[in-house]
Formats: sequence, C-alpha cells, structure tokens
Amino acid sequence: MAVEVVNKKVLLRRYIEPGEAPTEGHMELVTTETIILKVPEASSSAVLVKNLYLSCDPYGRAIMSRPQRGSNHLSTPGLPVPGYGVAKVVDSTHPEFKAGDYVWGLTCWEEYSLITPKETLFKINYTDVPLSYYTGLLGLAGLTAYVGFHEISSPKEGEHVFVSAASGAVGQLVGQFAKLLGCYVVGSAGSDEKVNFLKDKFGFDEAFNYKKESDLDAALKRYFPEGIDIYFDNVGGAMLDAALGNMKLRGRVTVCGLISQYNLETVQGMRNFTLVIPKCIRLQGFNVLQYQHMYREFEEKVVKYVKEGTIKYLEDVAEGLEAAPASFVGLFEGQNIGKKLVVVARE
Ligand code: NAP
Repeated sequence: MAVEVVNKKVLLRRYIEPGEAPTEGHMELVTTETIILKVPEASSSAVLVKNLYLSCDPYGRAIMSRPQRGSNHLSTPGLPVPGYGVAKVVDSTHPEFKAGDYVWGLTCWEEYSLITPKETLFKINYTDVPLSYYTGLLGLAGLTAYVGFHEISSPKEGEHVFVSAASGAVGQLVGQFAKLLGCYVVGSAGSDEKVNFLKDKFGFDEAFNYKKESDLDAALKRYFPEGIDIYFDNVGGAMLDAALGNMKLRGRVTVCGLISQYNLETVQGMRNFTLVIPKCIRLQGFNVLQYQHMYREFEEKVVKYVKEGTIKYLEDVAEGLEAAPASFVGLFEGQNIGKKLVVVARE
C-alpha cells in the first residue's frame, strides 16, 4: 500500500517585481501538505522523486518574476518554487528512470516532487563523487563554465583571462579551465576571504577584492598592463564597463551573467561601449540550456578531473529546506562563498 507523508514546501508568495531585490518575504514555508509516495495512475511518464540537494542560483530571480512576453516562465504564486536539484527516484512510470536512480535536473523546492521529465532530468552516472556536485560542478553551473569558456570565449593557450564573481559556482570553474589551458588568470570577488580562495585553492595567478577598489579601470590596468584577451563576465555594470576599456584588439567578452543589474529597474549604460568597434571586440551572450546536448561530453571530462584532483570545488552548504529562501536572497548580497546549495535530505 502506498505511504502518505508530510511534504514540506517553499512556495512563491508573490512575484519579485522589477527594481526589487529578492527577500525571504517573497517565499513562504508550508509544512502541512502531504503526498502519496506513488506516481498517480493517470500520470504516464512521470517520476516521483525525493529531493536531496537543491541548488540556489541567481536565475531564480527571473524564475520568480512576473512572466515576460516570450519567456519560458516556470513559477506561479502559491506553488512551490521551481529550481535545479539532485534527487532519488521513489517511483516512476517513465521508461528511462526507475526507483532507486539518482537524478539531477529541474525539480521544486519541496521534500518530494512529482515531475514529468522532458530534456531537463539527467540520470546520475557517477555516484562515487559527492552527489551534491550535481547541483553545481557536475550540473548546470559546471556546464555553464565549460560551454562559456570553451565554446563561446575561443580561448588559446597563454591568453590573459579576467573572471568576475570568480569565487562563485561558475567563476571558480572558469578560472580553473583557463589555468588548465595555460592561460594567465585574474579573478575579482567581493571579500578578502574569497580572494584568498581564488589564489590558494583554485590557482588563479592574481585576484582582487573589487569592493576595495575605488577605480576599477586602474585595478584592471594593474593586473593587465597589456590588456585582456577574454573577459568572462558574471556581473555586468561597472565591471563590464571597466573591462571594455581594457580589452586587447580582437578581445572577447563572454556575457554569462549580469547579476549587478538584475535588481535594477533600468540597466546601467556603458561609457566604454563605443570601443567595441575600434578594438574589434566580440561580445557574446549565451544560454546554457541551449547546450544541454553537450552534457555527457562535459560530465565525462570533468568527472575525470575531479577524481584526479585536477579541479577543486568549493561548496557553501545550508542545512534544511527552510534555509532555502535566505540562501537564495544571500546570493544577491555576496554572502555565499562558493556554490550555494541546500541539503533537504542526505538519502
Ligand atoms: P555565484 O557567483 O555563485 O553567486 C553570485 C555572486 O555574485 C555573489 O556571491 C557575489 O559575489 C556576486 N554578486 C552579487 N551581487 C552583486 C553585485 N551587485 N555586483 C557584483 N557582484 C555581485 O552565482 P553563479 O551561479 O556562479 O552565477 C554567476 C553568474 O552567471 C550570474 O550572473 C548568473 O546569472 C550567471 N549564469 C548564467 C548562465 C547562462 O546560461 N548564461 C547560467 C548560470 C549562471 P561577490 O562577493 O564576488 O560579489
């Protein structure tokens, strides 16, 4: 007989409006709902999972915002917050998943989720590395760093690479991929502790605390007297503007994220944007969801790096589903040191 259990959830209480910073008040913990631990008979190709680790990501802000025209919107007030995570299959009517499988992909902020996997659920092939890595290093953040650096930035050995938000989930990996290729790598981050991790743990050549720099242009000239070949941008705004002023001829700017702009009603202008023409700068954005076909290739390579110890990964772990709202809000205040994730259950 199927068992019924309490299913704790974090619901979206109200949309995050333009110009608003996310707050814990945008979400709500509910502890009274229950779920039957069996896929309902009417649901074909569905998977019931127990969520183990949930990923906290800046794109959660877009997910929790009012739908825009043409956007692939996911959340609705009153329903659990959607997000990526690692889970164990409890029951399945989907041919590719069976009870006991570990999976990662799009789930919800709740203890158990009934999901209808499309292209957004992957079976975890390697259970001999920490499962939590599939929220970041071996999940979407890792694929973002891999694609953004290798596919979008056109890197060459010996080039000079600058990474912002460099100690975060994506940034720490971009820097390490660049070092593996023999590049000179400098990262910026928002605290001295993060800067030390960049140099001591991840092997960046140099790193600086951008919050202590009164002149970002001067800071970049100090670390790149001959200019930047690749700027991997995670933040946008003033840092992107300063980097544009320091790019070499035919430099590449990979626009991965613009976190400094997400909570503003109007995006800041760029003083140095006109330099894109005389310096022949290639500025390119990308969306990792369009590169999911590369996941297995990426996974094979990076699992090998992890097992060899070639790549290091720093996680910032919060305990319990109730910690999810504060963990998410903290991303926009730079509170996370490394990949932010929430442990819902360990098994
Ligand atoms: P993360 O770096 O682990 O966490 C966010 C970090 O951003 C914070 O720790 C903080 O670090 C920095 N930050 C927050 N507010 C800031 C501000 N106002 N100005 C400057 N820095 C600020 O996050 P992540 O998951 O690795 O994501 C990094 C970027 O990649 C984000 O912009 C995200 O939207 C983007 N992204 C893009 C794709 C894609 O497909 N293109 C996919 C995934 C992620 P400091 O303490 O160093 O300031």
